[in-house]
Amino acid sequence: LVVLKGVNKHFGALHVLQDIDLEIARGEVVVVIGPSGSGKSTLCRTINRLETVDSGSITVDGRPLPAEGKELARLRAEVGMVFQSFNLFAHRTVLENVVMGQVKVRGTARAKAEAKARTLLDRVGVGAQADKYPAQLSGGQQQRVAIARALAMDPKVMLFDEPTSALDPEMINEVLEVMRQLAADGMTMVVVTHEMGFARSAANRVVFMADGRIVEQNTPDAFFTAPRSERAKDFLSKIL
Ligand code: ATP
Ligand code: MG
Repeated sequence: LVVLKGVNKHFGALHVLQDIDLEIARGEVVVVIGPSGSGKSTLCRTINRLETVDSGSITVDGRPLPAEGKELARLRAEVGMVFQSFNLFAHRTVLENVVMGQVKVRGTARAKAEAKARTLLDRVGVGAQADKYPAQLSGGQQQRVAIARALAMDPKVMLFDEPTSALDPEMINEVLEVMRQLAADGMTMVVVTHEMGFARSAANRVVFMADGRIVEQNTPDAFFTAPRSERAKDFLSKIL
């Protein structure tokens, strides 16, 4: 569903993505881990073209990423993204946050968009908060709204960049639980996270990055019990 071939990206002298080859199949859940600065966020951001690449190709569902305009807006809808900072519109209600994109990008009629938004808010467990503003919600609730907002666009793939890193510990699980459910429902997902429990229980594959490269990838079981590279062994010894 998502195919990266020979992708390279520089920030000035920094070679932040180096010859990245990665294929993500429909329904697959890929967890990306690696040290700080290894290029995990940049990798995610290239997939919905929040960053351009210097060389190589990226396709989503067989199509190269569009450069601009309506086509780019549609790509961003098809590739849902959830960030560490929830990025909700502060001056819109929770419901409105989930309605807006559907109306503006998908051209959905307002009543239909509202009905869908309420269904999705219920599904992630924040239906009762629909008429509040983001600041009135806990971090975990806000992040679940952000997930509902992305889902409202009927994405083909969802990217999560450290979705629980900004949350208080007691709120982490409610967000991971929504993500687990999404994975179980067959959503194609790329998840950058330090939550190794989630990686073990929900991922089909773990991709380990260091210095802008994919150093190794394997099933969670194999990766966590028998990492092959020194970099991965070293990384795991620090976090587990
Ligand atoms: P973390 O675990 O800390 O989130 P990461 O693996 O997500 O790290 P990236 O955010 O992808 O790493 O950054 C990779 C490298 O690129 C880092 O050295 C970072 O400082 C640099 N970088 C990221 N974005 C930019 C930018 N817009 N301009 C210049 N350098 C950048
Ligand atoms: Mg990052």
